[in-house]
Amino acid sequence: MTEAARRAELAANLDRVEQRLQRACARAGRERAEVTLVVVTKTYPASDVRLLAELGVRHVAENRDQDAAPKAAACAGLPLTWHFVGQLQTNKVRSVVSYSDVVHSVDRLKLVKALSTAAGGRNRPLDCLIQVALDKEADEGVGRGGAAPREVPELADALVKAPGLRLAGTMTVAPLTGPFAGRPGAAFARLREISTDLRAADPAATMVSAGMSSDMEEAVAAGATHVRVGTAVLGDRPRLG
Ligand SMILES: *Cc1c(COP(=O)(O)O)cnc(C)c1O
Repeated sequence: MTEAARRAELAANLDRVEQRLQRACARAGRERAEVTLVVVTKTYPASDVRLLAELGVRHVAENRDQDAAPKAAACAGLPLTWHFVGQLQTNKVRSVVSYSDVVHSVDRLKLVKALSTAAGGRNRPLDCLIQVALDKEADEGVGRGGAAPREVPELADALVKAPGLRLAGTMTVAPLTGPFAGRPGAAFARLREISTDLRAADPAATMVSAGMSSDMEEAVAAGATHVRVGTAVLGDRPRLG
């Protein structure tokens, strides 16, 4: 595909996503400006990130440091905010912190400590979201990323106290297992409750990151401030990202 054809395809996809978000906001009685579109560019090349920036996208997300680090370097200088949304191992933290503005996947105390150490050299705090695994509510989900809802207060407290970090809010992925499987609206409503409790403790923790290509409408209805949209903008990924 030529660059011009790819640009036209991305522009058309962005238009469709924009219309979905506008309709979802209107139905929820929310302003469109309350919801930030974060385009998940994982598995797609830096050339697509560049085209997206030219088309007005200002927020991009990646989930694997190995792919994200060279891509972010290739796109340095573009007016983009970089979000990291993947499961994060402590040995990748130093690299991730070097190009990320927001980390959505903070789910354990050890990671808070590593992020805080790595963020020491930054000139402004790193925004951190607590990733909540709603299928761990009943101790069911294992192995996948995210903290159990009951672990959120302790993580929040650690983030608030950690030098170099700022507690910015919460994030979730609609669970594939457990009581919320197949019910993204109910899952996002539960995240909203957790987020409301968190804001009672720290009013600045206003970000709610929820909703992907298939369930952005449910997320907007439940108060998401950030939707993370990949395939609806870039197309189906050739392999699992
Ligand atoms: C890949 C990914 C997305 C985007 O998913 P799509 O279904 O492609 O929109 C959102 N959030 C996270 C954490 C992801 O890994």
